Amino acid sequence: MNSDKQHLRSLPSVDRVLREAGHLAERWGHERVTAAIRNELEQMRNNPEALNTADKTSLLSHVAAAVETELENAAQSSLVSVFNLTGTVLHTNLGRASLPEEALQAVQVVARSPSNLEYDLETGVRGDRDSHVERLLCQLCDVEAATVVNNNAAAVLLVLNTLATGLEVPVSRGELVEIGGSFRIPEIMQSSGCVLVEVGTTNRTHLKDYKNAVNDRTALLLKVHASNYQIQGFTRSVTETELAQLAHECGLPFVVDLGSGNLVDFPAFNLPDEPTVAHTVRSGADIVTFSGDKLLGGPQCGIIAGKRELITRFKKNPMKRALRVDKMTLAALLEVFRLYQDPSRLAEKLPTLAFLTRPAAEIRTQAERIAPRVAEALAPRYEVAVSECHSQVGSGALPVDTLPSYGLRISAADESDEAIRQLAESMRRLAVPVIGRINKGAYFLDLRCLDREEEFIAQLEQSK
Ligand SMILES: *Cc1c(COP(=O)(O)O)cnc(C)c1O
Repeated sequence: MNSDKQHLRSLPSVDRVLREAGHLAERWGHERVTAAIRNELEQMRNNPEALNTADKTSLLSHVAAAVETELENAAQSSLVSVFNLTGTVLHTNLGRASLPEEALQAVQVVARSPSNLEYDLETGVRGDRDSHVERLLCQLCDVEAATVVNNNAAAVLLVLNTLATGLEVPVSRGELVEIGGSFRIPEIMQSSGCVLVEVGTTNRTHLKDYKNAVNDRTALLLKVHASNYQIQGFTRSVTETELAQLAHECGLPFVVDLGSGNLVDFPAFNLPDEPTVAHTVRSGADIVTFSGDKLLGGPQCGIIAGKRELITRFKKNPMKRALRVDKMTLAALLEVFRLYQDPSRLAEKLPTLAFLTRPAAEIRTQAERIAPRVAEALAPRYEVAVSECHSQVGSGALPVDTLPSYGLRISAADESDEAIRQLAESMRRLAVPVIGRINKGAYFLDLRCLDREEEFIAQLEQSK
């Protein structure tokens, strides 16, 4: 008999392990523990070589310990908080905007108990869930009506499906954008059931291109904010005012997919200029769509704002029911809008704006303050230097404008790429994973979004 088989024979029974690990049942419940033991024994049966290394007499406690580890691991949530030190403030893969405290509290209230989500407390009859945010939204965007759906992709889909199914929509070739791989204007137009008519060229589109494309099958004119890139050089695009005028001469609605959609004047916050939703509406847009979790700094959602007659049609489309937002989103969004009512305190209250407006000098001071402790925690394998860098807004907002910032440039003492890769990996394995970026043979942490500084350093020191 070979040694593998001997070991298989000596594997304890499920009951035997249960007795050994009885205390686990109190915490995890009898059924889960039994299932975990079965699973562990099964794995050992399938992998006898691994058993050879285990001392036969300690096999029982070995199995019990493995079961406990498995249960502990399974209890860890896969969705956890991380430190976003990538230098991209609105990072789609890291969940985009962080919500303000006021919004978090409002989410708890509606999540914990029933609410008047779709119930009119005045009349005691069914209400409209949009009503909670619509009034403020209309004030902030200078529009007649608005509705909220799951994200901006859904907003564009709902608008096109309602107004343009089976009809044509001319779009400039310079605006057929792809956002983050999963949202492509041509594909969303196809899904909505309308026919895309490409006009102009990649770098130049003229008003006459649109004029030539309009016919009696045209549903609307659409302008898409070229969010994540900029065409430079010999370029020409048609302004919103010109397009609005043409649309209205032809009796068509003019729709603008603004992408990021900000509600405040950015230069007033020392940020690069970006047209506000209200400005786009004043330029003649009948409908504007934008995201809730980009520059707006709120929860994930898509906002459709504009003419009441059109908004009413979107609300009646059965697709709206499939794309509607839940009560937690509305609760958070309402609080974010309330913060916008006081722009003077917005940069202090809204995390996205707070991160975007953090002065480089302040970030530098923070970098100099923590660099020695980070260096100490990573020595002797790594060296840490304070370094200038440029943050990005992210999520397709302001693609060419960067924000001056500071960070930690961490290099390997042996100058190997492997050491840098290992550092990035161990950073991702921390209790609160740290996400930085690897750049030119070094590991880089942009500190613009580092708000929990002590927690960040403490876990580095503990992991040493
Ligand atoms: C980001 C973006 C979208 C998609 O918005 P989501 O909220 O991510 O669905 C659509 N159009 C433009 C122009 C964008 O920038």
